[in-house]
Amino acid sequence: MDSTHEYSLDPGELRRLSGGALKIAVVAPPWIPVPPAGYGGIEAVVDLLCEQLVRRGHKVTLFAANGSHSIATVRSFVEAPHPNEIGASMYESDHVAGAWAVVDAAAGAGDPFDVIHDHSGFTALAMADRVSAPVVHTVHGPFDATTNPFYRRHGHKVTLVALSRSQAVTAPSGVRVGAVVANPVSVERWPFVAVKQDYLLWMGRMDPTKGAHRAILAARLAGRPLVLAGPIQPGQERYFQEQVVPHLDGTNARYVGVVTGTVKEDLYANAGALLMPIRWAEPFGMVMVEALACGTPVIAFPEGAAAEIVIDGENGLLVDDEQEMARAVDQLEGIEPRICRASAASRYDAAVIAAGYERVYRSVIRPEDAIHLYRATSRTHEHPESEGARHEGIGTQPTVGSASGRRAVGP
Ligand code: UDP
Repeated sequence: MDSTHEYSLDPGELRRLSGGALKIAVVAPPWIPVPPAGYGGIEAVVDLLCEQLVRRGHKVTLFAANGSHSIATVRSFVEAPHPNEIGASMYESDHVAGAWAVVDAAAGAGDPFDVIHDHSGFTALAMADRVSAPVVHTVHGPFDATTNPFYRRHGHKVTLVALSRSQAVTAPSGVRVGAVVANPVSVERWPFVAVKQDYLLWMGRMDPTKGAHRAILAARLAGRPLVLAGPIQPGQERYFQEQVVPHLDGTNARYVGVVTGTVKEDLYANAGALLMPIRWAEPFGMVMVEALACGTPVIAFPEGAAAEIVIDGENGLLVDDEQEMARAVDQLEGIEPRICRASAASRYDAAVIAAGYERVYRSVIRPEDAIHLYRATSRTHEHPESEGARHEGIGTQPTVGSASGRRAVGP
């Protein structure tokens, strides 16, 4: 940088250069308020992340469903949450357009957001090159045949963050994952119980891939009672009626519906183990981390992130089928609850995860990028009539470094 130039620094550029507090827009999905009253994995993640980012001194605006609460500043656009219309494009696009308008207005007012962290899904990713701040996008769903063409077309517009290494390596060719950051849990808020009860726990959506019916078989083979908890979402009624209900007897297999608050905490904390007989490459799996936070071991099929979250023989057991799962129940006395909790605290505690995301944000808005901004700004001074020169300055720089989420250069 040439010190003889007269550079103008907007507040955002100063923040980036000082390594100090950032101005961050966190975009949650529009379906369920933050924090979720019941089921709501992404909303719980967003809640913890916002809290930690504010605690770290950042200025955070959370764009989330109506009814959301956070120590971040909350902005909502859609009049009501839509928990039964998840994915409806009208609500999602309304939500994202509202967030983008706020971000652009802040830039226009000279106090731009440094970074947008999106958790809301496809609309924000597709439109990430239509907003005046770099976008970090956490991929909460799988890369698969349905989504891969979408990520190929739009992935370059953001810095993609995967939740696990196993998810990252499934990104389609040509799609770069900039970082792997797991989902957070606030370990101290989960109760620790060292002496477990006899029952086993299954917790999740009543989707066949989550394996409630396989958990029922494994528990029966192990001769242990099973408690099942979780929502029956639209489209899952038939599976539940045909594959779960016939096995429920109120004693050996008991379905308790959606659990929240202390009921959920007690269920996790007292269970002999969480059963995770999944048959899909689950990108993460909050229920495993929540169980571990309570000192409860996890017995899982080694699919997706389960094989990373569960360290075989330390905080749980990895098994290949229901028979092995039943046999693993007999090995639970070799798993120490305190080690289970420690394995969640060291890897998934919200403070650890927020620090990880902060590194990602700073890599996206690096000083090199800021220097490009100065040059562009200085050109603006030379040609004050060239409106938007600053943005062109950003856009015409090649994407800096592998982790930069700067908008790609258009043709
Ligand atoms: N959950 C809940 N009540 C239930 C069942 C699940 O609050 O009865 C929560 C659970 O605590 C977890 C989330 O729903 O935080 C499920 O997240 P996960 O990543 O395990 O699964 P997903 O459904 O996102 O694939």
